Amino acid sequence: KGVFPLEEKLVPVVCPYCGVGCRLYIKSLDGYPRGIEYAKDIPGISNENGKLCPKGNAVLEYLLAKDRLKKPLKATEQGKFVEISWSEAIKEVAERLRAYSKDDPNAMMFFGSARTFNEPNYLIQKLARMLGTNNVDHCARLCHSSTVSGLKAVFGAGAMTNTYKDIEEANVIFIIGHNYAETHPVGFRYVLKAKERGAKVIVADPRFTRTAWFADIFLQHYPGTDIALLNGMMHVIIKENLYDEDFVRRRCVGFDELARTVEKFTPEYVEKITGVPAELIVQAARTFATAGKGVITWAMGLTQHTHGHDNVRLAATLSAICGYQGKEGCGVSPMRGQNNVQGACDLGVLPNVFPGYQAVTDPEKRKFFEEFWGVELSGEVGLTVIEAAHAIEKGKVKAYYVMGENPVISDANTNHVLKALQKLEFMVVQDIVPTPTMEFADIVLPAAAMLENEGSLTNTERRVQWSFQALNPPGEARPDWWIVSEIGKAAGFSGDGARGFRYTSPEDILREINACTPQYRGITPERLKSNLAGIHWPCPSEDHPGTRVLYKERFLTPDGKAHLAAVDYRGPAEVPDEEYPFLLTTIRYVGHYHTLTMTGRSRALVKRWPEPLAEIHPEDAERLGIKTGDWIKIETRRGAYPVRAKVTRTVKKGVIAVPWHWGANVLTNDALDPVSKIPETKACACRIAKISEE
Ligand code: SF4
Repeated sequence: KGVFPLEEKLVPVVCPYCGVGCRLYIKSLDGYPRGIEYAKDIPGISNENGKLCPKGNAVLEYLLAKDRLKKPLKATEQGKFVEISWSEAIKEVAERLRAYSKDDPNAMMFFGSARTFNEPNYLIQKLARMLGTNNVDHCARLCHSSTVSGLKAVFGAGAMTNTYKDIEEANVIFIIGHNYAETHPVGFRYVLKAKERGAKVIVADPRFTRTAWFADIFLQHYPGTDIALLNGMMHVIIKENLYDEDFVRRRCVGFDELARTVEKFTPEYVEKITGVPAELIVQAARTFATAGKGVITWAMGLTQHTHGHDNVRLAATLSAICGYQGKEGCGVSPMRGQNNVQGACDLGVLPNVFPGYQAVTDPEKRKFFEEFWGVELSGEVGLTVIEAAHAIEKGKVKAYYVMGENPVISDANTNHVLKALQKLEFMVVQDIVPTPTMEFADIVLPAAAMLENEGSLTNTERRVQWSFQALNPPGEARPDWWIVSEIGKAAGFSGDGARGFRYTSPEDILREINACTPQYRGITPERLKSNLAGIHWPCPSEDHPGTRVLYKERFLTPDGKAHLAAVDYRGPAEVPDEEYPFLLTTIRYVGHYHTLTMTGRSRALVKRWPEPLAEIHPEDAERLGIKTGDWIKIETRRGAYPVRAKVTRTVKKGVIAVPWHWGANVLTNDALDPVSKIPETKACACRIAKISEE
């Protein structure tokens, strides 16, 4: 009312949702939200002209949720939560972890988060490792672990090789297993800009998505038949001599074996496996290989399979044999789902690598971190999140620290996860709101949300950006970096510098990251804060501008060459049979994100996308007497899920597509890819039955 002349500030932040990493301003009045403003005035950011998608526009709503966690909580023996002080919470967590660390460090599991900053992610893996275990992982295991392992196998590193600029400059964009228009809407604008320029768009998807509307060539393959489709395209490209012979000779190994392997994948043979007409396979192959500049982009449709690692290797191989590596307007672009999946991977929230993808099994790397952190470290590769669920069930893992994750909904085969979590001795959940996972917690730590906190984030195109604190956290909620630091100190790691957890700010932590992560060496807090467009890693020194296109001279494999993959066809681990005659796949909605902990608290988004609808082909629906709006039960060997039906030709006959945000992982298969350990949430056998009319 004019008594306190408070100043409204425009605070630059990064959208807390998807991996595009859009910039926006929060209008903040003394730490309270007054609205958002588009970041139209920052050149070179990933969202040109400040554009946002529905989620970005609704970004403030979940922060104002009435049920935000505001005090640390402790579970009583009667199964209720009581409020405790921060000092009690920190002391209890630290003492319990310390005790496991003494007796059996591998009895602990740590779950980092792609939904928080680089700094707390660095700290959670440091804490796990200093306590003696490499049992640390995060949700990339469930979305892009096969991208990381597959790209590493072919090119030597597991990241997007290019940037959005290169998508915009490409002459052909091959989108496989990726509903780009809905999952990364602002990033998709670069595809549209390329198309306006005359670029061709090829979309391969088991479902006719919004992205497919923009395709010049649409390949609707059955879920889980990607290997056959990619081999079929390479068969045509090699047979018709459309590959880049010079690039293959100079920069690749394994071409002869590839040529032998794809020989039998004639378009007619591939049509039988994938359901894609042979002439479309030929057309797609010719269009892709002859464009001069090409990009392949993918997401969960390619990765979430028991052959996800091989799918990614083949996509990378297709790119390489066409010579679409190491130059502008080309490359491979895996699109990360959460806004800091790339950063959490880069900073070692993985059971096999330290920050910067430095293997825990490499004695030299281990020695470096032993000296850096001042403790002896384990060289044994730790457990992934799905392996942890099995280890909990067997009583091998007894304590679980979950930072900003919700495995009860997000893991595959969630009935199994529920059963396993009941066996834990001790569980810590650190989050911004109550989640179904919190029901199993002994201690709950209330965290500040991303916009109430600051730090660095790495988007899908390796762009590291600083997001500033715009708002006050509610109650006693604290930043993730502060919480993990306090636990680290209380657990006895109170040495100076990198040898302890005595940080006073996220800047301190990023400086430590600069010192131990080669790709981030020159990405200092000072540079990020003064350059809102951020810096693309690798950035080896403070005077380095960052790297737009990787592998201009050599790949990061030991011999510097791309290691082409030769893979024979295998389909999903579970295929339809008499008992379960349909093929189930999972999908996402543009207005929702992950397990709804954020978008489910936005009135605007819930109003527009109120519930999941299972898509079923009209002929299947007619046979089963199902109409749009009817309740049906989808059943797999692992669980049952009631949902309303949507009768539509977006799916092929025999295929059911269900959004997973609301809990459909009760149905999905936790069979793992043998290399990346990603579960197969994109394809399994199911049956359906009508429950009731609309
Ligand atoms: Fe946020 Fe992604 Fe939408 Fe951009 S595209 S506004 S980062 S959810």
